[in-house]
Parts: sequence; C-alpha cells; structure tokens
Amino acid sequence: MAVVRTVLGDVTAEVLGVTYLHEHLIIDAPLVADRMPHISLPSVSEAAAEVATCAAAGVGAMVDAMPCASGRSAEKLAAVSRATGVHVVAATGLHTAKYYAPHPWTRSEPAEVLADLFTADVTEGIDRYDYTGPVVRRGEHRAGIVKVATLGEQPTDAERRAFEAAALTVARTGAPLLTHCEGGRGGVAQVALLAELGVPLPRVILSHTDKQPDPGYHRELLDAGVNLEYDQGLREPDRTLGLLRAMLDEGFAGQLLLGTDGARRSLWRTLGGAPGLAWLAEHLPLEPAVRHTLFVTNPARVLALANASG
Ligand SMILES: [Zn+2]
Repeated sequence: MAVVRTVLGDVTAEVLGVTYLHEHLIIDAPLVADRMPHISLPSVSEAAAEVATCAAAGVGAMVDAMPCASGRSAEKLAAVSRATGVHVVAATGLHTAKYYAPHPWTRSEPAEVLADLFTADVTEGIDRYDYTGPVVRRGEHRAGIVKVATLGEQPTDAERRAFEAAALTVARTGAPLLTHCEGGRGGVAQVALLAELGVPLPRVILSHTDKQPDPGYHRELLDAGVNLEYDQGLREPDRTLGLLRAMLDEGFAGQLLLGTDGARRSLWRTLGGAPGLAWLAEHLPLEPAVRHTLFVTNPARVLALANASG
C-alpha cells in the first residue's frame, strides 16, 4: 500500500486528492523576519485562513517546502493541517545559502552528518528547535520529503554535499526528493549529479523550472526521467500555461506537477494580496483528465514512500 508521510502521520496516497507540490505555509525564522519580511510567515492563524480558501477550492494536500533551520516549524504545520483538514507534508534537507547566515554547519559538515540529520527527521521526528541550537528534541511530526537547492548552473561544494546527503536519505527512507532551481536554472547539472549519486530519477521533482521559458530545457529534463513542478502560475500564468501545453503535447503529462511557491505575503488573498493561493485550483485552465493527472495522480505517485513501511 502506497503511504505518504504527513505531519499528522502516514496516510494512504489515495486520500490526498488535489495536491499542491511546493508551498510555503509557515516561514518562521528571525533571519527571514529581519532580512526578507515579505516572505515572513510565522502565523498559524494566517496560514490556516489562506489554506482554508484552498480547501474550499478542493485542495486536499500541500507540500511545505521549508527544510531544516530555514524557518520550518513542524508544530505549526501540524496546527495548520488540523485547523483546515488539508494534509501537509513537511520537508527535511537544506535551502539556499541565504537562509543560513547563523548556521555554518549547513555548509561545512560532511554529507554523512547531514544525511543522519535528514534521515532522523523522516524516520524519528523533526527537531522541535529545527536544528538551530545545540540541543535536539525530536517531536512527533515527521518529514515526508527531502529538499535541496542550487543557485547557479553548477553546484558549489556545499550544495554538492547537501545533494549527497539527500541521496543517502532517499536511499535510506524511500522519501521523494524536491529540488530548488534558482531562477529555474541549474536543472541539467542537478539531474546529472543525482544520476551520478544513484537517485532514481522518477523520485526527483525539480521546482521553479517554469521561470525558464525555453521548451528545449524542459524537454531535456523530462527526457532524463525527472518530474517538473511548475509553480509560477500565480505570477506569470501565460508563461507557465504555455510550457504546460507544450510539454503535455509532447506526452509528458505523467511527469508534471503543480504548486504556487506562494511565500510572498502579497500573494495571499486573506492578507489582502492577490491572486490568492486558491487561484491555482480555481482558475488554471486545464481539461478535467489532465487536471486530475497533474493535481491528483502524479502527486500520489511521487509522494508515496518507496518502502511503504513505517
Ligand atoms: Zn519555494
């Protein structure tokens, strides 16, 4: 039985329903509040209100894409999930360097050490302190996906270590792997590195690639066997839809996923912004069968743990 690991426990993949694959419901870190206040999202009640608009639009599940020590809060995600009835999958792994000024361990520790931290988030429980201090206290909420990131066309040494740790975690836990492609770029090198590290490419989801409009880039990535998650539809609907149509025409429906990457407060309807996270489920013009494949079938497959044991 295919099992997905949510913050409130394991569920069968069939119960997820319409799933947003790259969301930001909670971002709760002093560094973000100080330097990036436009994406500071510390409030459970604010997140629950915006997620409720998505639930009303038929959304059943969301992946929160904040990994270790970057503003993740498993307790708050669990509270949002309880308040809305929407399943939430939390991430482990590492984000881009700008989130870690006070946490040098993220760029200096060897892959084995990072992999042990990531693995314990998936198998035991996410640290209540989110790996920001010397003490680790594991809570009851576990991560269900691994997230890592690159900034340029080629991974730096620190990014490479994070990818090595992610690959080890995927092998140990069966969790899927979500990547951040800065500006949509770097996907080709990510795929080459993950293949070299032995990660099954159908278990890999690249985010933000619809920032890059060249269909040839998307074709090359999809031909390699990875999944692409398009998440710029709230900002650039024509570009994202154009890419979607092109890749659907080429037969890649089974490898395409959707999300909002909605970290900006100015996107949230309940905070006075626009168009709101629910826009994607409400207004993205897709034929019903395609919509079901991209929003329901593909997420259920990629989010299921490869080794469906506890
Ligand atoms: Zn994101």
